[in-house]
Amino acid sequence: MEEEAGKHQDKNPIEPVRMTLDSKFRFSCNKGLECFRSCCGKITVFLTPYDVLRIKNRLGITSAEFLSLYTRIVDLKKTKLPFFLLNMTEDGRCPFVGEDGCNIYTDRPLVCRYYPIGLGFLKGDGIEGGDFYFTIREPFCKGFEEEREWSVQTWRESQEIDRYDLMNKDWFDIVLNKKLRAAGVEPDEKSQRLYMLGSFDMDSFRKFVFESRFLDLYDVDRATVEMIRDDEAELLRFAHKWLKGVLFGEYTYPRKEA
Ligand code: SF4
Ligand code: SF4
Repeated sequence: MEEEAGKHQDKNPIEPVRMTLDSKFRFSCNKGLECFRSCCGKITVFLTPYDVLRIKNRLGITSAEFLSLYTRIVDLKKTKLPFFLLNMTEDGRCPFVGEDGCNIYTDRPLVCRYYPIGLGFLKGDGIEGGDFYFTIREPFCKGFEEEREWSVQTWRESQEIDRYDLMNKDWFDIVLNKKLRAAGVEPDEKSQRLYMLGSFDMDSFRKFVFESRFLDLYDVDRATVEMIRDDEAELLRFAHKWLKGVLFGEYTYPRKEA
């Protein structure tokens, strides 16, 4: 199944114009618009690892509980590794939309931060953030009739997207890794299990690091150990670097000599 992030499920509102960071657009979203909250339903919301971390902490539940209660797995041919999508409710609404808008606004997913901008990747070797942008112009969205002008860059800044890019950078390198994209290469069951653990389940990954022989087996400096012990976002970045080693041999933290 192929789905496009940020796109509502019954129409194709993507403008076929490639934008750069300097491209301009007029847009404003506010509670006074008649379309307020219309965009928070029947939408494809891909979740990055940092989204899962922020939202499960916002809700005060574990990663496993969040994934089981609010998401479903989707396989993408392009990446060969599974992703999680946010489940809509039975009436097609996002589970987090309330009377006043998004109930998890300060921790909303990356896709919602970008909206009404979409992010595309070119097929290259690794990425630095996104490769190009486009607008998603839903017919019901009145925000495009407002006067306020943005560039893609100023929109990104207003939405805290740089922080998300930093936290997800190594993970994007994993899912878009050229070794994985090679014809005939399929990640085996063990690789998929490690990918799930190191990408989306920081509660279990923390136990794996600190309650197993992990630190006896991998060469991790003391400063990093202390940092990831106290900071779950840094634990996530560490997990992605470790995954690049075990999945592709691109080690930041190699195995110790036996
Ligand atoms: S202006 Fe667009 S993004 Fe904002 S609430 Fe309306 S439909 Fe949603
Ligand atoms: S997470 Fe928030 S912003 Fe995103 S679709 Fe749901 S209610 Fe809307």
